[in-house]
Amino acid sequence: NLKKHFPILDPMPFKKSTQSVKAVDGVSFDVFKGETLGIVGESGCGKSTLARLINQLISPTSGSVEFKGKDLASLGIKEIRSARKSIQMVFQNPDASLDPRKTIESLIAEPLVIHKIGTKESRRKRVHELLEIVGLSSYHASRYPHEFSGGQKQRINIARALTLNPDVIICDEPVSALDVSVQAQVINLLKSLQKEFNLTYIFISHDLNVVRYMCDRIAVMYLGKVVETGTFQEIYEDPKHPYTKALLSAIPKENPFEQRERIILKGDVPSPVNPPTGCHFHKRCPFVMDICKNTRPELQELNEGNKVSCHLY
Ligand code: SF4
Ligand code: MG
Repeated sequence: NLKKHFPILDPMPFKKSTQSVKAVDGVSFDVFKGETLGIVGESGCGKSTLARLINQLISPTSGSVEFKGKDLASLGIKEIRSARKSIQMVFQNPDASLDPRKTIESLIAEPLVIHKIGTKESRRKRVHELLEIVGLSSYHASRYPHEFSGGQKQRINIARALTLNPDVIICDEPVSALDVSVQAQVINLLKSLQKEFNLTYIFISHDLNVVRYMCDRIAVMYLGKVVETGTFQEIYEDPKHPYTKALLSAIPKENPFEQRERIILKGDVPSPVNPPTGCHFHKRCPFVMDICKNTRPELQELNEGNKVSCHLY
């Protein structure tokens, strides 16, 4: 039941704002070891805020994140440090975590330095090993970020995320800023690393086409809430929530005779400051009923793991 509400700064000084942006508004889901959970939704639905909450870059307004059965907020300093090592992140913008003044070696070794692990020599060895693992070479270690393409930079970011042998990597739109031809290479790299190191991924994307190559299970978000979760097959073959149906209807199918009927949504995503009453989706839903306008549907289980929040079910 994770929530993050950002208060809106009032232009009047000394006046406490009463409004807030409900970026993440009561989200619950599980992620299991070794799987890839896709989190899908349009921009502004709260995906990146959710990623930052899980990675403890920001703290929740309420609710909790549990890692290996323990509430992250209740951990002591030592345990927090170890949890921080175990959960790493790859961001959408390949430049975001690459300081242009630092060499690739010092960038990839940085997490080891921060956590005071190893000697200069052992760190160097680890950096060279990581560069090979992500398909670059030790020869790149002394170079600077601007000497690399977007795809290569994302490989460097992935190497950096792997430095401390994490259990979980949160990938926030890791290929959205890359050319389509490069996207597949980075996705294949992530997939092979997952097998090799038994990694768990939380893979955030607005692109259902990318998600289908990556994910075992999917959670669909709309306006700060999860509206449907299910396995990859359940979501792609039999989407339940009208919003999921609409998202999928926009993707071309390989066999044009199987093409889903296109569902065009009315209007824009409403503001997360004043989300609509009842079902957050009711103003855009082609199946809206009277009950939807005032009664919020709960996320309920249809069959094991397949959950949906919609009054149609
Ligand atoms: Fe549409 Fe109603 Fe279902 Fe919301 S609860 S998705 S408005 S049918
Ligand atoms: Mg985002």
